[in-house]
Amino acid sequence: EPAADWPTSPGAVQGPPSGNELSVLDARNVSAWFGSHKVLERVSLTMPAGQVTALIGPSGCGKSTFLRILNRMHELVPIAALAGEVRLDGDDIYDRRKKIQDARKDIGMVFQKPNPFPAMSIYDNVVAGLKLTGLRASRDEKDELVERSLTSAGLWKEVKDRLSQPGGGLSGGQQQRLCIARSLAVRPKVLLMDEPCSALDPTSTRVIEETMVELQKEVTIVIVTHNMQQAQRVSQQCAFFLASQGTPGAIVEHGDTEAMFSEPQDERTYDYVNGRF
Ligand code: ADP
Ligand code: MG
Repeated sequence: EPAADWPTSPGAVQGPPSGNELSVLDARNVSAWFGSHKVLERVSLTMPAGQVTALIGPSGCGKSTFLRILNRMHELVPIAALAGEVRLDGDDIYDRRKKIQDARKDIGMVFQKPNPFPAMSIYDNVVAGLKLTGLRASRDEKDELVERSLTSAGLWKEVKDRLSQPGGGLSGGQQQRLCIARSLAVRPKVLLMDEPCSALDPTSTRVIEETMVELQKEVTIVIVTHNMQQAQRVSQQCAFFLASQGTPGAIVEHGDTEAMFSEPQDERTYDYVNGRF
């Protein structure tokens, strides 16, 4: 089977990109509405190349909506309107000439609840990442990308001898790493993770965190988390979102994670990171 749209040079398929090729994602003045309900107010945030950016804040303050806007996923939810811009390495991902599939190819996403195709083999689950974006690959290229993606997701050693078994037979933490591998199959520039560990036990959570620390060498990561220890363990930059008394979600404070936890500039950040609300 020909590899129609898949890069044919071996160098394009193998190995992570070197550090200076990592991508930066930039959101400027992003506002969003569900119907007449404004849920985000002029959110601006640069998510630097090769860093993990953590989005924190109480439920309902727009973190998931913001994350979906970062890869045009919200266009699949019919009633969201959007103002502002999102740029990946300077390119407007909302450029009318750009297809939604291209944005989703460059910017992968992992959700709270692991959602592999349960009856599909582990191997095919990873390859499905390609199919979702319309890319095709030869058998050899698929073998290679399955090993590469599972290795990057920290799952290769555990599953290499049972690639033909169904994805649904894995533990919750393994299923989540399988979903990460599926996202990585297309070599995204950015990986968005919406509370990826909230449905997992502490041991699986630690494994995913260790995976993230390795992964950030090859992909820029944005993670939503309610776990303040996790934000401190995995992220270099942190943004605190808040939607108070009916006002739309906005960033109260953002910056270096360590500084934000040790010396928050805003009283509301102080209260939140110290578990006061
Ligand atoms: P968070 O992830 O921080 O908990 P969300 O982005 O899920 O916040 O939600 C932000 C606001 O947008 C909430 O007020 C929520 O009720 C509203 N919202 C989210 N998704 C939808 C939707 N599909 N339709 C209508 N309102 C929504
Ligand atoms: Mg959410």
